[in-house]
Amino acid sequence: MFVPLEKYRAILAGKKRTKLQENRDELDTKISEAQKHLEHCNLCEWRCGVNRHQSLGRCGVSDKPSIASVFLHFGEESILVPSLTVFFHGCNFKCVFCQNWDISQNSGNQYVPPDVLARILNSHKKAKNINWVGGEPTPSIPYMLQVMKHIHGNIPQIWNSNMYLTPEAMGLILPFIDVYLTDFKYGNDECAYKYSKIRNYFSVVSRNHKMAYDHGEIIVRHLILPGHLECCTYQVIDWVADNIPDAALNLMAQYRPEYKAYDYPELRRRITKDEYMAAYRYAKRRGLYLIDEQIWLEYINSL
Ligand code: SF4
Repeated sequence: MFVPLEKYRAILAGKKRTKLQENRDELDTKISEAQKHLEHCNLCEWRCGVNRHQSLGRCGVSDKPSIASVFLHFGEESILVPSLTVFFHGCNFKCVFCQNWDISQNSGNQYVPPDVLARILNSHKKAKNINWVGGEPTPSIPYMLQVMKHIHGNIPQIWNSNMYLTPEAMGLILPFIDVYLTDFKYGNDECAYKYSKIRNYFSVVSRNHKMAYDHGEIIVRHLILPGHLECCTYQVIDWVADNIPDAALNLMAQYRPEYKAYDYPELRRRITKDEYMAAYRYAKRRGLYLIDEQIWLEYINSL
């Protein structure tokens, strides 16, 4: 019988080792590969090629990433909490409705040496996982791998990302990530460009979801945008059902206009109950496992 996140559950139960434990001997090689990107960065599909020791690329992250916060998060998917989140400043996306814009659109100035951050992470004994997030964690992969070198214990590693990485960057993290917690925002390139200024969105992000699915377990988050069922939500659901059918899908209902969303008339409202239920029924018809579905149904019924 299909059990979503079966390996993750087995790690928590002490019956399996994390990928970091299994593949620790690959870490030094991946760290030196990752360091080369700091001289000519191609970690995400912007492929800025900048020397991050000297200047900033599109993401605004230098060779010394800034940590916005580290804390035990109780607002993630129920299977993940409490989740020890590491929030990085900076992001390669410019989403007009970003709810974390104060972090994502800010380079920050809070560098913490890798061994110091690892010591903080190792001290949180109640965490179920370490959750690398932002902003966007992709620009900070070289740093993250250095932190991992000092992480002890059998604690799952979560990659919480917009998935706009290059295949080279995916290759750096695949040996060490247990669960991919992804944002699959758009079902087409036009909406991605209009709201996030991203090109080639669908082919890049879907390619990386497939790579993640083939190497680990995956929770796909999709934030339903008002008026975007046909062009985005149904497209994402169809792609997931056709290509990564054992993924857990989190159909998120909490969109609210933030940041620059008021510049776009269609984004000035929350989604309706009818929109959510249409998306929910569509995903059910496609046979997908919906994570935390009761929580969302209660939420949408309370609006
Ligand atoms: S991670 Fe930043 S610097 Fe590197 S390619 Fe992407 S946007 Fe450019």
